[in-house]
Amino acid sequence: MKQKIFSTMLFAVAISTSTLGQDKSPAEQLKAIELKPNQAKPLFILDGKELSELGSIDPNNIEKMEVIKGKDAIKLYGAKGKNGVVVVTTKPVIKGSARWREALDPAVTEIWEPRVKKITAGAKAGEAPSDAIVLFDGKDLSNWVDKDGGLAKWEVKDGAFTVAKGTGVIKTKQTFGDIQLHIEWRSPTTIIGEGQGRGNSGIFLQEKYELQVLDSYESQTYSNGQAGSIYKQSMPLANPVRQPGEWQVYDVIYTAPTFSESGRVINPAHITAFLNGVIVQNHTEIRGPTEYKGLPIYVQHGKGSLVLQDHGNPVSFRNIWVREL
Ligand code: MG
Repeated sequence: MKQKIFSTMLFAVAISTSTLGQDKSPAEQLKAIELKPNQAKPLFILDGKELSELGSIDPNNIEKMEVIKGKDAIKLYGAKGKNGVVVVTTKPVIKGSARWREALDPAVTEIWEPRVKKITAGAKAGEAPSDAIVLFDGKDLSNWVDKDGGLAKWEVKDGAFTVAKGTGVIKTKQTFGDIQLHIEWRSPTTIIGEGQGRGNSGIFLQEKYELQVLDSYESQTYSNGQAGSIYKQSMPLANPVRQPGEWQVYDVIYTAPTFSESGRVINPAHITAFLNGVIVQNHTEIRGPTEYKGLPIYVQHGKGSLVLQDHGNPVSFRNIWVREL
């Protein structure tokens, strides 16, 4: 009993002569409880666990430190508290906090396998990279057929081909799902017609969803029908169309729709499109096949050709390539 009182008092004295106080930082308080070599050790409680030593605690991680002495310590901790009790509570480790991140292994989020496929980019912007499927290289329409699968009758000249009015659409022999598409088009220099009647063609993704081709340089039509629109569904974010006779460049990322076995659409198609380097469709949801009248309704389908529209205007195309995604 004598010993207990002595020890408690010794600790009490040690603490009372220290710099402990409410106005001290945890670091200062921690330093203050460093005991003399012959001093009886208090009981240390760190985050609810008893410890023989406090060890190395980063003072910056201390939320609260409390020293309990004398009768109070014995009352709360029994004989173990005879030399006093130092209760330390560290700051909670909050998910996403700097402290939490410091403890993480950076290798966990590194992906080494599989390796990224190496390809050779085009020498200049717009040129087909090594893994592209070139659909028109300026020479012939061998990768295209007419709507019935016959010979594509559009005229090839000077590294481009031009809509032959009245011959109908042409479409790729190959069918596609998700693609990156590069295609360049030119509306005729001689301006004939107005609005939808001027330099009208179109690029139908999977034969169904039209990215509009139109001379929209200085020609008014409905906003969701001008160049850069998903026809009758989504107006372009801007109108960066060059004047008639100049080449216009589309770069497109297209994600095909997916369907359940029963034919219900699970993921609608999406399109991101740049026109002359300017984004005109930003991950736009396509609501269904292009319709001239009324709202679109999805109908289940698989891969489809790329189709170019014959709208009766002599629109030209060149440098067409896709990459399957
Ligand atoms: Mg059109």
